[in-house]
Amino acid sequence: MQHPCNAKIVATLGPASADRATIEALVHAGADVFRLNFSHGTHADHRQRLDLIRAIEAELGRPIGVLLDLQGPKLRVGTFADGAVDLVEGAAFRLDLDRGRAGDVHRVVMPHPEIFAALQPGADLLLDDGRLRLRVLDCGADFADTQVINGGRLSDRKGVNVPGVMLPISALTAKDHADLDFGLTLGVDWIALSFVQRAADISEIKAIVQGRAGIVAKLEKPAAIERLDEILAETDAVMVARGDLGVEMPAEQVPAIQKRIVRACRRLGKPVIVATQMLESMVGAPVPTRAEASDVATAIYDGADAVMLSAESASGRFPVESVAMMDRIIARTEADPQHRQALDASHTPPQADTADAIGWAARSVAGLLDVAAMVAYTSSGASALRMARERPRARILGMTPQVRTARRLALVWGVHPVLCEDVASVDEMTALALRTAVQRRFARPGQTLVIAAGMPFGSPGTTNLLRIAQVEGEVEPPPAPESTMDSPAS
Ligand code: PGA
Ligand code: MN
Repeated sequence: MQHPCNAKIVATLGPASADRATIEALVHAGADVFRLNFSHGTHADHRQRLDLIRAIEAELGRPIGVLLDLQGPKLRVGTFADGAVDLVEGAAFRLDLDRGRAGDVHRVVMPHPEIFAALQPGADLLLDDGRLRLRVLDCGADFADTQVINGGRLSDRKGVNVPGVMLPISALTAKDHADLDFGLTLGVDWIALSFVQRAADISEIKAIVQGRAGIVAKLEKPAAIERLDEILAETDAVMVARGDLGVEMPAEQVPAIQKRIVRACRRLGKPVIVATQMLESMVGAPVPTRAEASDVATAIYDGADAVMLSAESASGRFPVESVAMMDRIIARTEADPQHRQALDASHTPPQADTADAIGWAARSVAGLLDVAAMVAYTSSGASALRMARERPRARILGMTPQVRTARRLALVWGVHPVLCEDVASVDEMTALALRTAVQRRFARPGQTLVIAAGMPFGSPGTTNLLRIAQVEGEVEPPPAPESTMDSPAS
């Protein structure tokens, strides 16, 4: 099984995708990374899903990334007796601290004393990604009486945003600390930090994680956009978290911010995920809207590393169809000649250091020699990231003896991660690269590979070697193209 796309798919797991058969179907449909959303579910739920992912990974022999998404200081309402209520415009609705009572159409718990302390009459609360709006008429230390301005269905644990009110809350809550400890014992590959506001939020979590996982900064606050450069310098990867971003900021500003973030991440060579509502209507329908298809394609034309599904794969009716649809949109978009033009036009010069010099040289070689594939033999993943930064035409084999690195690379544009054995010399490494490229059908006899690595092997961040090697044997004619009628170009 070979996944033809360069851009990756992150699929959130949830009740609609918790069983082995569905997770396996998601992998076959094109999911590269699974997101465990710690805003929902128990530790037991997440452990079970992780165990299933690892079992499927072992069976398929293909590294799969797991991204633990910490809830962060996201404000949420509690649960309802019937799972949901319909709030009608003009009606009264109370939020309180009474955790003991299930919600109904008159009230629900919002278990955040600090928000009640910060509220003022006249403030608006936005619920469920801004779909519902409540105006505070009266409030105290443990309640807020509101009037429904924009009504609609409100279900269990939906998010609450309070735009314009500065809430005195830190980026890692007590729950996040517990979830983080748990996630590190599980061995997740990426950890996403929600509601990042400053670089210090990233430093704080890095001090705990100690390199055991990569850090994804979720950009969803105006404060983070104001400090974009300092946050990008500190983080390993980024998520354009358009759900909360589009509530905290006017929706019309989100597209420009998304493009700015993607461009900045590509310049730095740090993976960037575009997230939320990408195929939202597929929560309840087997096909997306045309606007959604276009939204996914835009992220692909911009050269984002990954696009993400949330409710579509976690709780919707069509989890597998959603991934399959995303995969088809990516494949079609990448096959469009304008995609290559857009990537080349938005390419920025590399940094003046050894690793980028190697990545840039590899891209030039690939352009000149018509190479079958590029190979990064990498311990930390850095060589593969520098190659991916160049968004080359040739696909990248990310070969590593570190299982953690292989899984982390599942998120990175164009990188096909392969777990391999340790090597002792450049010759051994070259032979292994050639063998692997042939086995994985990245190259045929007679074809050329360009290989980047760091010497000495095993010491991270030493990319300093570029090797051009040829697969032995007669040059075979390329195989006849398969029918191109229905299958997306590979
Ligand atoms: P969430 O993050 O789904 O955890 O809220 C993504 C977003 O806000 O877009
Ligand atoms: Mn969010």
